[in-house]
Amino acid sequence: MTVTDTAQKTSAGRGFRAFTARHLDQLTARAGLPPAERLAVRAVAEVLPFRTNNYVVDELIDWSAAPDDPIYRLTFPQKDMLPEEDVDHIAGLLRRDAPRREIQQAAHRVRMRLNPHPAGQLRLNRPVVDGHVLEGVQHKYRETVLFFPRQGQTCHAYCSYCFRWAQFVGEPDLRMAADDDGVQELVDYLLAHPEVTNVLITGGDAMIMSATVLRRYVEPLLALDQLESVRVGTKALAFWPRKFVTDPDAADLLALFEQVVRSGKNLALMAHFSHLRELETPIAEQAVSRIRSTGAVIRTQAPLIRSINDSALVWESMWRRQVRLGMVPYYMFVERDTGPADYFAVPLARGHEIFRDAYASVSGLARTVRGPSMSTTAGKVCVDGVVEVAGRKVFALHLIQARNPELVGRPFYAEYDPAAVWLSDLKPAFSDRFPLEESPGAAVPVCQ
Ligand SMILES: *Cc1c(COP(=O)(O)O)cnc(C)c1O
Ligand code: SF4
Repeated sequence: MTVTDTAQKTSAGRGFRAFTARHLDQLTARAGLPPAERLAVRAVAEVLPFRTNNYVVDELIDWSAAPDDPIYRLTFPQKDMLPEEDVDHIAGLLRRDAPRREIQQAAHRVRMRLNPHPAGQLRLNRPVVDGHVLEGVQHKYRETVLFFPRQGQTCHAYCSYCFRWAQFVGEPDLRMAADDDGVQELVDYLLAHPEVTNVLITGGDAMIMSATVLRRYVEPLLALDQLESVRVGTKALAFWPRKFVTDPDAADLLALFEQVVRSGKNLALMAHFSHLRELETPIAEQAVSRIRSTGAVIRTQAPLIRSINDSALVWESMWRRQVRLGMVPYYMFVERDTGPADYFAVPLARGHEIFRDAYASVSGLARTVRGPSMSTTAGKVCVDGVVEVAGRKVFALHLIQARNPELVGRPFYAEYDPAAVWLSDLKPAFSDRFPLEESPGAAVPVCQ
C-alpha cells in the first residue's frame, strides 16, 4: 500500500465541503445572531463574496465565542462592512423576496462604488511581449514576477477583509488571470528579462489548483536557469491543510515540491496565517512537516486586521509557533483602504506599536519578519517607528521594495498622525514631498 492509499483510507469524511451564501442563515443562527442581523449579513454577502468550508467551521471557529471569535470574523461578513443604506436596501429586497435579477443589480451597483483594484493594478505593471499585454502577469519589482493562473483564482475560504473579491464574484471587467498558454508567454517574457530571479504563482490561492494543474505551470519554469526561486502563494495551510495530507493529490503535490527542489531551485511557500489558532490543529502541524520534508521553505505573512489579529500577543504567539514548526516569519502587512473600507483598518501608529511589542518579545530567529508594510504604488513602505527629530514628532519610514531600486532602504519621514491608516493620509516631514511619489504602479495583493 502506498502512502497515498493510506492517506485516502484515513481521510474518510475529510473531503472538502464549501459553505456559501445558501448556508449563511443557518451558520449565523449558530453564531447566535438575531433574525434582523442575519438578514443584514445576507445582504452584505450579496455584494462581497462569502465562502467558508467544513474544516474552518468544524475545527477552527470557536462557536461559543462567535460572532466575536476572530476566526469567525475571518471568514464571515459583518453587517457594518458596507454603508448602512446599501445594506438596508438589499435587505429590503431579500425580505420581500424580490427577483434574483433585481437583487443582483443592486449588489452590482454597490460593488462598482467600491474600488477592487487600487493603484491601477489592472493597467499598470502588465508586461508586454511583441506589443501584446500578458494576461495574469504582473512585473513590478525587478527580481520578481507575479503569475496568476486562471485555475488559481479562488480560495478554500474567503477572508472577510480581502479585496480580491472582483476575482471571485464574476464581474468580468475586473478579473485578471492567465490561461494555460499563459505560462509559455511567461517563459518567453522571462527569457527576455534575465533580471527576474523569482516567480510567485498566486491567486486567489495557488493551492486551490490540483497537483496536475499546478505542475503544468511549474514545470516549464524549472528549465530556466535564471530562476533562483519558485514561490507559491497560499492560505491553504490555514484554511485547508488537508490539501497536503489527506487530499487525493497530496502525495503528487509533495512530489512536485520535491521536483522543484531537486531541479536546484528554492521552493518558497508564501503562507498566509492570520491567527495563532490556524497553527494549532494537528493536521496543520502535519501539513507543515510534510511540506518541509520536501525541502521547501515556508515563509509566513498576513495583514494586520482590526478585530482579528490587532494585538501584539497574537503576533508574538504566531511567530513563536511558526519558528517552532520550522517556518520563517516574513511580512506583517497593513490592510489597504479598499473594498470593505476602514472596517478592518488599524492606524499606522497602533500597527507599529503592535509590531514592535511582538518583535521585542521573540528571539532573533523570528526577527526575520518585516513590517508593518504598506503595498503602495511606489513600493512596500515600512513604518519603522515614531521618533522625535529636531523637536518634531514624526514617523520614520523606508521602502522595503520599490519599483525604482534606487529608493530601496532609504529612510524618510512623515508628520506624526495617530489617526493615519495609509500612506495617503501622511504628510512629508522635513521635505515637501516623499521620495516616491512620481512612480506609477500597482499594489500587491493583501494576501501575498
Ligand atoms: C511584495 C511583492 C512582491 C514580493 O516582494 P518580496 O519583498 O521579494 O517578497 C512581488 N511583487 C509585488 C507586486 C509585490 O507587492
Ligand atoms: S486574503 Fe488571500 S486567502 Fe484570503 S480570500 Fe483573499 S486571496 Fe484568498
